[in-house]
Amino acid sequence: MTHDHSHHHDHDHEHGTVLSDVELRVRALETVLVQKGYVDPAALDVLIETYETRVGPHNGARVVAKAWSDPAYRDWLLKDATAAIASLGYTGRQGEHMVAVANTPETHNMVVCTLCSCYPWPVLGLPPVWYKSAPYRSRAVMDPRGVLKDFGVTLPPEKQIKVWDSTAEIRYLVLPERPAGTEGWSEEKLATLVTRDSMIGTGLPKQPAEVAA
Ligand code: FE
Repeated sequence: MTHDHSHHHDHDHEHGTVLSDVELRVRALETVLVQKGYVDPAALDVLIETYETRVGPHNGARVVAKAWSDPAYRDWLLKDATAAIASLGYTGRQGEHMVAVANTPETHNMVVCTLCSCYPWPVLGLPPVWYKSAPYRSRAVMDPRGVLKDFGVTLPPEKQIKVWDSTAEIRYLVLPERPAGTEGWSEEKLATLVTRDSMIGTGLPKQPAEVAA
């Protein structure tokens, strides 16, 4: 399949000042749809509320923590991420075809959508602004090591960086390496180490010393 975008495009976001323009257009569109009776404003509010509060990176953190704790779940996640993630209750728009890619001592994975902003909503919520920005989308592919440096991540030169281009068809989730010194930790506690950026691949999980005991 080609990079088919049935969801809304974010090309205008590359110009910071255009954001309010997009918001205005969205508002105008919403008004028309409501007036014509196509859209129930209450339903829209529920949808937005859902993605602002209920759905977010804490979902993905639970997936990662479970994969760190349970080898059978990890295998399942790497073989069929959509099903393994759905088993925890995380399904829905922009998460229909998930692929999990595991970081190893040899390989670091990083996710981008070069065309716009395809992103795994059910596990990470809505994409951060930088993810949709033109500089990230182009540089992630041309200079992933430079992008990581901008994010404060320096990897050993011998570590390979793989960049995965999300599409409307496939959404990637990075499974970071489990930090050392977390032996015997509960899934709940492990999840506190998992940052949003570590699941996009622009960051690493927190170290045990960084989270309160
Ligand atoms: Fe996209």
